[in-house]
Amino acid sequence: MIKIQHLIISKNNRENSSSTRSRLFNIEPIGIGTSSVESLRSYIGRLAIGHTVRVGDLLKYEIVEKLGITEYEFYSNRSQINKFGPFTENLVSVLEELTKRTDLGYLTLRKWKNAFPNRNGIFHQHLKWCTKCLMELRDNNQDIYEPLIWTIYCINMCPKHKIELSSVCPHCCKSPKSFSPRYRPGYCPHCEKWLGEEIPFKEIVGIELERQLMLSNAVGELLSHNNVQSKTIEKEDITVSIIRIMEKATKGNNKEFAELINKSRDLIWLWKNGKRYPEFESLIDICEATNIKVVDFLLNRIEYSSVENKKIPHKKILRKKSAVERDYVQIEKQLECSFLNEYPPPSLAELKKRLNYNKIREKFPLLSGMSTLN
Ligand SMILES: [Zn+2]
Ligand SMILES: [Zn+2]
Repeated sequence: MIKIQHLIISKNNRENSSSTRSRLFNIEPIGIGTSSVESLRSYIGRLAIGHTVRVGDLLKYEIVEKLGITEYEFYSNRSQINKFGPFTENLVSVLEELTKRTDLGYLTLRKWKNAFPNRNGIFHQHLKWCTKCLMELRDNNQDIYEPLIWTIYCINMCPKHKIELSSVCPHCCKSPKSFSPRYRPGYCPHCEKWLGEEIPFKEIVGIELERQLMLSNAVGELLSHNNVQSKTIEKEDITVSIIRIMEKATKGNNKEFAELINKSRDLIWLWKNGKRYPEFESLIDICEATNIKVVDFLLNRIEYSSVENKKIPHKKILRKKSAVERDYVQIEKQLECSFLNEYPPPSLAELKKRLNYNKIREKFPLLSGMSTLN
């Protein structure tokens, strides 16, 4: 466990930013140019470890002031760390100045901002991790880090091990938020224990496996191109590309195209007329159904001669879970974890307090039967 320890660097030294030596360690980011490229917050976490301080202290004493914001403002923007936009750009340039590196933007989604027209809900709100990957990193004496792909909202499976990404700490049964002052790759920010513990792994199978493989291949390929220099597609060209793809795949027929990718005709009309842009997952579906690589779409280098109509069966496209349903799944996992790990089992009142959720008995009658009376 890391103890809190302030950076032992004098103020004079701190202000000498024109020095050619880096103020913070020039740690090399992991996996640039691969589908398992590190996330920027993981890099910040490893920087803190390198300086034997907590992430919260590194931010407080070295970074937040240079960003020109308060700590509170920093944590309010935590979901922007790995993203794109002014906050991310500012953070990348401050970190690059402090480490004298020039490649930290590759640890974010900044290259693919046009792939996310909605701009919200791009990332999981909670930390997600593959227990087996963490185990392997530790067994091989490699640096423990968090790949950017684990943070993307539509990725729920480790593409390497085909198991569900975990989101509940097996020790304290909490579901850690995505980033906090005690963030440290591979460890629970609440109890600070190692997350690479052997637990029952949930293997992904069937249609869900197919869907997750398709999504993780597409996302992984994008992330492996984070560092390519070629220009990405402009927003206006997205509409042009969709029209051309539709021409090739369904001779421009809206109805047929809507059926091909299991969307409504109205939505296709909006895309075709530039009134809306496809959401990230829809873009992946369009590409999958027409034999295009998402990366080629977004780098504006589609080979229209090889566009196909692959007629993906509807059943392959799973309905997306709503935010409320995702919350249920999360609460259910935390309840299961508590009943598996605690003896005597926690009371309902205790669980309500812990999870900040009052309808446990109502929504999870079977599980709540396992709690001690209260
Ligand atoms: Zn894995
Ligand atoms: Zn924990």
